[in-house]
Amino acid sequence: ATPMSIMVGVGKGAQLGVLIRDAEALEKMEKVDTLVVDKTGTLTMGHPKVVHIETVGGFTAADVLKKLASVERASEHPLATAIVAEAREQKLELSEVADFDSPAGKGVVGTVDGMAIVSGAAKFMTEQGIDTTSLAAPADEQRKNSATVVFVGVGGKLAGFVAIADPIKPTSRQALQALRAAGVRVVMLTGDNKTTADAVGRDLGIDEVVAEVLPQDKAAAVRRLQEQGRVVAMAGDGVNDAPALAQATVGIAMGTGTDVAMESAGVTLLKGDLQGIVTAQVLSRATMRNIR
Ligand code: ADP
Ligand code: MG
Repeated sequence: ATPMSIMVGVGKGAQLGVLIRDAEALEKMEKVDTLVVDKTGTLTMGHPKVVHIETVGGFTAADVLKKLASVERASEHPLATAIVAEAREQKLELSEVADFDSPAGKGVVGTVDGMAIVSGAAKFMTEQGIDTTSLAAPADEQRKNSATVVFVGVGGKLAGFVAIADPIKPTSRQALQALRAAGVRVVMLTGDNKTTADAVGRDLGIDEVVAEVLPQDKAAAVRRLQEQGRVVAMAGDGVNDAPALAQATVGIAMGTGTDVAMESAGVTLLKGDLQGIVTAQVLSRATMRNIR
């Protein structure tokens, strides 16, 4: 590759809000045949909102939200931000949390007003000895509408769940369509529940959905696709996505996401708009054609 044509490609990308780190990233983009995308913050807006609260065992919705938000105040997860925002909107007074812990990709635990609070996905609740089956049906109903369900346990008993929805970015649909038309297979990778992930995947016409992936397993999922002979670009925004971005042939970070993701990526989409991936591929093809 001549330095001149690479410079032109990188310069055009920058004008279009697509930051290409080096010649290697620009050259490799052309050969990508598989795009792995993180769901939250990448396909979706990354600004989730509480849309429903379900309770059980005599708890009120305000009880559940107040206790949950008191714990989530200590978490930086987008789900936590949504929960705390809803509690503030409802003018609930939050309590101090003790013994806080947040196993990555699973949920949170803490003690609030002397009560043990556990919150997270169904699997995590089971691990913590809390049975969620009594709310399985209403939870699935929320997931089928693309919402994420966060269960809440109080004092070792199930108290309810909060359903949180994160709208799909208006640009995601068009970008994925263009990529598919260019022969790129799209795989969605998420830590979220299978039913929620499938609902979002179906909505966007995504070829393959890999759900309930722990943060530390995202890079291995990318490697498995590479072992099948695929040339993989991975798009993500979170701290958890960084190892997978580094593993991919081309890592693509959202400029709206974390610095850690951007540091691990060869391409950064300044506007956080997946349409930038289409732009990067077009630039890569044009550059490589010039060189040959
Ligand atoms: P994603 O891949 O969509 O970014 P994560 O790996 O961050 O998802 O989280 C996976 C799942 O773990 C969430 O869908 C949620 O059920 C649970 N979880 C993660 N963080 C929290 C939290 N702070 N509070 C409650 N549940 C959480
Ligand atoms: Mg994410």
